[in-house]
Amino acid sequence: MQMAYLTAHELRKSYGGQEVVAGIDLALEPGECFGLLGPNGAGKTTTLRLCLGLTDPDSGTISMFGLPVPRAARRARARVGVVPQIDNLDPDFTARENLQVYGRYFGLSHASINARIPGLLEFAGLGSRADDNIKALSGGMKRRLTLARALINDPDLIFLDEPTTGLDPQARHMIWERLRQLLAQGKTIFLTTHFMDEAERLCHRLAIMDRGRMIVGGSPRELIAAHIEPQVVEVFGDGAEAWANAHGASASERCEKTGETVFCYARNVAPLLHDLGRRPELRYLHRPANLEDVFLRLTGRDLRD
Ligand code: ADP
Repeated sequence: MQMAYLTAHELRKSYGGQEVVAGIDLALEPGECFGLLGPNGAGKTTTLRLCLGLTDPDSGTISMFGLPVPRAARRARARVGVVPQIDNLDPDFTARENLQVYGRYFGLSHASINARIPGLLEFAGLGSRADDNIKALSGGMKRRLTLARALINDPDLIFLDEPTTGLDPQARHMIWERLRQLLAQGKTIFLTTHFMDEAERLCHRLAIMDRGRMIVGGSPRELIAAHIEPQVVEVFGDGAEAWANAHGASASERCEKTGETVFCYARNVAPLLHDLGRRPELRYLHRPANLEDVFLRLTGRDLRD
């Protein structure tokens, strides 16, 4: 078997006495898409920064491409591309110039940078925007340009911190399509997200992180099978809660309320649907359980700001 591209063991980091990363182990195999999921403040970005050697751990070991991080992080990062959460393109430069400047940071020659740029802009769907100023690009275009920029050194491993946060649905789909293309080319991806659909679509394997710890890991299907009943009936609107108290709870394995919606989880939803069929005043949705159900069950339904 090929050596893991990235391993971390017993990683810890505290800020102001609070343990933000509280003893994490991970291993990324070549060619896989690994996702770190978690509510706001779970420690995802800090974990990513530790792995990249941008933040020093309090304790624990990290190895990337067999090199120790942070000691040899710069050398290891020669084979890495990074798409940060916050857009840090240079607003004074054009799309092409942004790629040129970044390429020089990796010590690439002018000729090799310029040879790569047309293909990268094409990949980002920005073939005709090379000379546009960054300010003229939409949010989705900027994110795709940041992805193209991360590929300037033809990296083997790409880190993406919440790659589609703040984008509209069309722009998100475009990013997902690009990421799948990169996986098809054999690239390895490490991403953080709080979008369950994103994780379910892209990740071969993922871990759910909360309060600095990884609480579970596995493929999306494995996690759903292991942690949640297979069927869900969502009941919403006036009377939903009263119905759940009177009927829903007894006819399902578990009922939970979030906002004005009651989620009833069950292996067999026939009795629930039968009962709802006689109550036209209630609105409901029957669907298979998904990763979001797992996430909410494991991290709770309280709001994290
Ligand atoms: P996530 O990416 O899961 O939202 P982060 O890793 O960004 O979580 O942050 C986890 C916690 O660590 C938060 O409470 C955040 O405020 C804190 N934190 C992150 N970076 C720093 C820092 N440089 N200084 C102080 N606190 C930090």
